[in-house]
Amino acid sequence: MQNKNELLRSLPKVDEALQALRETIEHYNIPRRLAKKGVRAAIDSVRADILAERYEHVPTGEEQWHELLQRRLIQIHQPHYQRVINGAGIVVHTNLGRSLLPDDALSQLSMGATSYSNLEFDLTTGKRGSRYTLVEDIICDLTGAEAALVVNNNAAAVLIALDTIARGKEVIVSRGQLVEIGGSFRVPDVMAKSGATLVEVGATNRTHLYDYERAITENTALMLQVHTSNFRMIGFTSQVSAEQLVGLGAEKNILVMEDLGSGCFIDLSQFGLPAEPTVQDAVKSGVDVVTFSGDKLLGGPQAGLIVGKKDTIDKIKKNPLNRALRIDKFTLASLESVLRHYYDINEALTAIPTLRMISEEAGVIKRRVQRFLRRTKHIEDKLCTFKMVKTQSMVGGGALPEYCLDGWGVEISPQQIDISTMERGFRSLRPPIIGRIERERYILDFRTISDKDVKDLVDVLTGYFHGDAVGS
Ligand SMILES: *Cc1c(COP(=O)(O)O)cnc(C)c1O
Repeated sequence: MQNKNELLRSLPKVDEALQALRETIEHYNIPRRLAKKGVRAAIDSVRADILAERYEHVPTGEEQWHELLQRRLIQIHQPHYQRVINGAGIVVHTNLGRSLLPDDALSQLSMGATSYSNLEFDLTTGKRGSRYTLVEDIICDLTGAEAALVVNNNAAAVLIALDTIARGKEVIVSRGQLVEIGGSFRVPDVMAKSGATLVEVGATNRTHLYDYERAITENTALMLQVHTSNFRMIGFTSQVSAEQLVGLGAEKNILVMEDLGSGCFIDLSQFGLPAEPTVQDAVKSGVDVVTFSGDKLLGGPQAGLIVGKKDTIDKIKKNPLNRALRIDKFTLASLESVLRHYYDINEALTAIPTLRMISEEAGVIKRRVQRFLRRTKHIEDKLCTFKMVKTQSMVGGGALPEYCLDGWGVEISPQQIDISTMERGFRSLRPPIIGRIERERYILDFRTISDKDVKDLVDVLTGYFHGDAVGS
């Protein structure tokens, strides 16, 4: 039993600790105010441990204190926002930043960031221009749409479209499509916020054209189709096609909108994946408005793309909400780069990381795993073992929820600690490693680990298993 009061009395004073750490502070160029905050927080947390009689992490002696405070100081000085290694095997992982940009998008991004640009300046007339013209013609080329607009994200795209078309009016949606996408995007809630009234039709599993037809009143402004994204219904189900709705809409003079969610330009069935509706298909079906995300299957920056018939898109552009939801210059810069790749589909498949990872053959992933295993032989000993395993990766981003991509990965089995301790430890590395635990096994899926990641992975794992981090 330790003496609580004695331990409390032995806590270092903030100013003395800072004095003892001045070399570290100077070396890392840590602002004094931040250093003070870090040291105080570290001492406070040890004090809380002592008061709660949790003694296992309480430093004993000057050296241990020095180490603890030094570690905390370096930590507090590191950016909160940092790179991680995605070994979870979910390509469009919303929590890990969704899509990665192609390399050439970076030069446009940094151009926009570090120089003045023609963001809203028409170089031909010398007058004020519109930021949207920088990408509108490309989006129309690629999708076949008459007009296009880009806003902050797809949630914003749906909101502004509904607000423009249906504020104060009724919108008909099938009960089978009233989904929650996650991250608090729920179709009924967005509808309410836009000031439109939701009219649900059909049953959960089946909706027919006559359900829409019967629900139409003189107050109906829109029939909305929502891609169910991260959710699938199987069994006795049926939904009405966009073409059918367009036919009904033309007859009754009601607009039709489709929220595609992921919004892919490429037919993924060529990679053995189930066919997802492409943006081109949606446009061809004749719907008035199509909305989709920039950073899901499209593989670009966070954005919401709105394409469709010119008269409707023009109205959306004029909605004052557009000013509030507008995209910034970095998004525009990188979005244009990404979109340009789609003029050549084969090029897009190699240049755009999201598409590259989805379409990568299992054999290529396997060779990456083998390279990793050759380079980690020195780590494997009594501390851990690595084993090549088959994996099932997911596309993510609400696309193809029940479908898996066959790939390869590494199972890491710690010998002296349990898996959850190791998993936690991996998350505190620089860069943190995010894996997945599958039936009590820790797996790193190499579909989402690039060649570039492998080197860092080897380095941080070496540090973890051979450094002093094990068990902490
Ligand atoms: C993902 C998704 C959204 C939201 O898109 P964000 O770009 O994340 O705002 C909206 N609708 C559907 C169907 C989606 O899949």
